[in-house]
Amino acid sequence: MILRNVRAHYSTDHGPVVRAVDGVSFSVGEGEVLGIVGESGCGKSTLASVISLTARPPLHVTSGEMILDGDTIALTDQTDIPQDWHGRKVSLLPQRAMNSLNPTARVRDFVVDVVRAHDATVTPQEAIDRALERLEQLSLPSRVLDSYPHQLSGGMRQRVVAVVSTLLDPGVLIADEPTSALDVSSQKELVLLLQLLLERGFIRRVIYITHDLPILSNIAERIAVMYAGEIVEIDETKSMIRSPQHPYTQALIGSTLDPDPHLRGSRLQGIRGAPPDLRNPPSGCRFHPRCPYVMEICTREAPPLVGDPDHFSACWWVQQQLAGKPFEKAEA
Ligand code: SF4
Repeated sequence: MILRNVRAHYSTDHGPVVRAVDGVSFSVGEGEVLGIVGESGCGKSTLASVISLTARPPLHVTSGEMILDGDTIALTDQTDIPQDWHGRKVSLLPQRAMNSLNPTARVRDFVVDVVRAHDATVTPQEAIDRALERLEQLSLPSRVLDSYPHQLSGGMRQRVVAVVSTLLDPGVLIADEPTSALDVSSQKELVLLLQLLLERGFIRRVIYITHDLPILSNIAERIAVMYAGEIVEIDETKSMIRSPQHPYTQALIGSTLDPDPHLRGSRLQGIRGAPPDLRNPPSGCRFHPRCPYVMEICTREAPPLVGDPDHFSACWWVQQQLAGKPFEKAEA
């Protein structure tokens, strides 16, 4: 899957424009989990809305395209996306997905509603049979289908929604903070379930969006770090955790508890300053008001992308340190 040059902003008739996602491009390989991490307000969830094809006003997508399995769609008019992209090519596991279960209906009714919303040719019994088979393949109890949500634990509800949202074997699953409301053991079970879904080929890629670096260090092959609406670094997970290049990634890891056993014992440090106001982001590098390595050029010119499209840092300092060669971002 390739995502090219996504730009999206929030606006109202009277209010200012908030540039929440600004020129985001990346690719996700078959079988890969790509993590996207950043502080609150960096644009992660806005990006999740855009790439899960659920962006609606006041969120406006001004550019961007997605290429998946040889097909390309423009992301700008999300009310006109072909039906087979919803659920079958792209599926969303949202924050607090467990709350999407109707408290007055059994899980089997939810299964029928979800499957038939994406494919009306499927009969209710076929939808139930598909869910039963999938639960069995994943070693989950089939009795959950006859349960009401209040009869299941929060962790089980979240796993059930994860299974139902992948019944159509999507090409990519967008998991937006899927473990944020769960206790630690339920988080682990959900991560294991997503890994099993990938191993069995029921989903073919995952974009896992979170503020939780330790979770990504367990599940993601690569991590993209987002700051102020932009991707500032992408790298293999191990390499990033052990030797982050971009000053913001360094600060993010330095402020995180135990992202890797090798870092245990090092002192936690907060990230100085606060994320910028995206109605009027800083000139040049958006991290420059908070960056310990800031140089004069950082305040006036956007930094170069150093590396290659799958492993890069957007930083003048990194370019100097590595004598790296900049590359041009593909425009949609
Ligand atoms: Fe810091 Fe400059 Fe790099 Fe931005 S471009 S992260 S301000 S060194």
